[in-house]
Amino acid sequence: MRTDLQIDGFRGRLITADHAEYDTARAIWNGAVDRRPRLIARCGGTADVAAAVRFARAHDLEIAVRGGGHNVAGTAVCDDGIVIELSAMRAVSVDPADHTARVQGGALWGDVDHETQAYGLATTGGIVSHTGVAGLTLGGGIGFLMRTYGLAVDNLLAAEVVTADGSALRASADEHPDLFWALRGGGGNFGVVTLFRFALHPVGPTVLAGPVFWPAEDTADVLRFYREFAAAAPDALGTVVRLGTVPPLPVVPPELHWRPAVAVACCYSGPVEDGERAVRPLRRFRQPLVDLLGPAPYAAFQAGLDDTTPHGWHYYWKATDLAGLSDDAIAVIADHTYRAGSPRSYVAMFHLGGAVARVPRDATAFAGRDTVHNIVIDAVWLPGESAEHAVPETAWARRFLRALEPHRASGVYVNFLDADDGAGRVRAAYGEHTHRRLAEIKAKYDPGNAFHHNKNIHPG
Ligand code: FAD
Repeated sequence: MRTDLQIDGFRGRLITADHAEYDTARAIWNGAVDRRPRLIARCGGTADVAAAVRFARAHDLEIAVRGGGHNVAGTAVCDDGIVIELSAMRAVSVDPADHTARVQGGALWGDVDHETQAYGLATTGGIVSHTGVAGLTLGGGIGFLMRTYGLAVDNLLAAEVVTADGSALRASADEHPDLFWALRGGGGNFGVVTLFRFALHPVGPTVLAGPVFWPAEDTADVLRFYREFAAAAPDALGTVVRLGTVPPLPVVPPELHWRPAVAVACCYSGPVEDGERAVRPLRRFRQPLVDLLGPAPYAAFQAGLDDTTPHGWHYYWKATDLAGLSDDAIAVIADHTYRAGSPRSYVAMFHLGGAVARVPRDATAFAGRDTVHNIVIDAVWLPGESAEHAVPETAWARRFLRALEPHRASGVYVNFLDADDGAGRVRAAYGEHTHRRLAEIKAKYDPGNAFHHNKNIHPG
């Protein structure tokens, strides 16, 4: 494609292979994904998105939509087609009077936390601040605040969407309610979201948060304790278990860096003194390697894991919802985690429940309301280490998932699916009922399946 290419009505930047920034612009978070789109349309606003969608349809181009570019499956970039790229649309504006925020479709969670925390407000977002708001929210959105305030989609009040015919619509409880339902879990199947409006809640700015680490040998004991601790935890306490090695972060004593370990990361969203009481049993049940739990600015805590999953490393994931944390399931987790060959590979286990489970199952397209724990097995290696790690690490993740088979629930969080998880797993992510309804709504808003470079729902 020529560098003087123009799109009618498009005022943003068009990037092709002739431009110096092409390689940076086509790179996404997962460095293992190397695709060469014909055109990257860096949009400045809704009008640009609409023009790019119309252009793509008129020229029968494959369409990829890029929010934060964080999806492990690499759906934010395609070969040979057009990438509708939103990195210039990251504005966040807070209305402190009605506790809402308007967030553009290319914003990252760090952008949201930064602006909302200026008012002592927050909404449920992801646990790494360079993850995109759009992809995370459209799949459901799990994070430390979800047990108190629900998923990201439970806080979504409205969305502005460019649909497959290039029209700009507003979806909310009152406008296109079917589309609004589908956007809350159905992923990028229904159009390009250019603006989200979220409900906000008072959080921090100081919260009790951080991880406590124990040595790998203690994993089974830690997880058995954690099972009871999590079950009794107040909604205000969000926890994520991270198993692997101690990351070499500046806050961690250097002698512990890369040591195999299990951690429980906590964030208590209420008063710090109440949080101290809630986490006391966890800190006391057995001597930790290191306890980094303490009062911290919420926005800084949310960015604390950023350096453990940097852009450009190579990633491959396998995930499932768990049927429970039985002793046998714990034995599998304790056994398989530390067989990873790369010290960068890790496992994350989220604790849902609380406000997530109190929303009726059919209220949104997120189907995992009954899930208490889900798990994501993350194979990670450096770009230069593919010869050594790519095959064994991906095999480790698949073997680990197979070993969990007897302990799996039928569902899986759609945002944790990788490129080799086919249509069957997308169906499993939604369950038959939700999947059927999503397919009907897809047929109404995108009958030609123009938006298929995603965890695809076929129009039905
Ligand atoms: P992108 O790769 O940009 O997009 C993924 C897909 O989303 C696109 O293919 C497209 O279909 C769709 N999409 C993106 N932007 C738009 C848009 N504006 N309009 C319409 N469709 C769009 N998930 C959680 O829920 N909680 C977590 O705590 C969490 N932590 C994570 C940590 C890391 C390190 C990583 C890599 C991922 C994490 N995830 C988490 C998963 C995350 O939700 C998905 O990777 C999600 O797809 C990221 O969104 P993105 O906008 O960055 O993705």
